[in-house]
Amino acid sequence: MVDLSGIGIAWQEIVNWFLAQPIWAQVLVIIGVFAVLVLAVILVYYILKGVAYLVYYLLKGVYYLLKGIGLLFYKLFEGLYYAISGKPKPQKAPANPEQPSPQQAPPQVKQEEEPIIPIQKYEQIVHPEVAYCSECGNRFTDSMIQTLTENGFAYCIHCGNKKTQANQMSIESQ
Ligand SMILES: [Zn+2]
Repeated sequence: MVDLSGIGIAWQEIVNWFLAQPIWAQVLVIIGVFAVLVLAVILVYYILKGVAYLVYYLLKGVYYLLKGIGLLFYKLFEGLYYAISGKPKPQKAPANPEQPSPQQAPPQVKQEEEPIIPIQKYEQIVHPEVAYCSECGNRFTDSMIQTLTENGFAYCIHCGNKKTQANQMSIESQ
């Protein structure tokens, strides 16, 4: 209060008026000032928060804008480069990290969908009566191979996967 009273005559008059009031009025004034201060702090908080969000989205927008411009320039210069050098553009494609995966993917899909790969496995086996389930990797039992030969299909006793004529053919072809 001592420091504040030194600000000026106006403040001194306010202090004099305040001290002249009865005690209940002084308490009310203090509560009122306190409430105003709290409201001011809350207001400043939300204003700062709003400004922070504004700045954040502005920066984000600028970032995407610059990114888009960068990409545009990249494509532009890439196109210019291939136009000037005369190199075919697809040559650059294998360097793309997305390209190797499709090259690797089809064999994996074939292994899952077609029984051709398991047949190749069986052909490598010396004894025709020894075969392995393509699903669980367990060895075929003699009864399984017999059922397969007789019925054209059999169920793996380990995983229940159905073995069709195709497997049997590969076994017999040995
Ligand atoms: Zn199995």
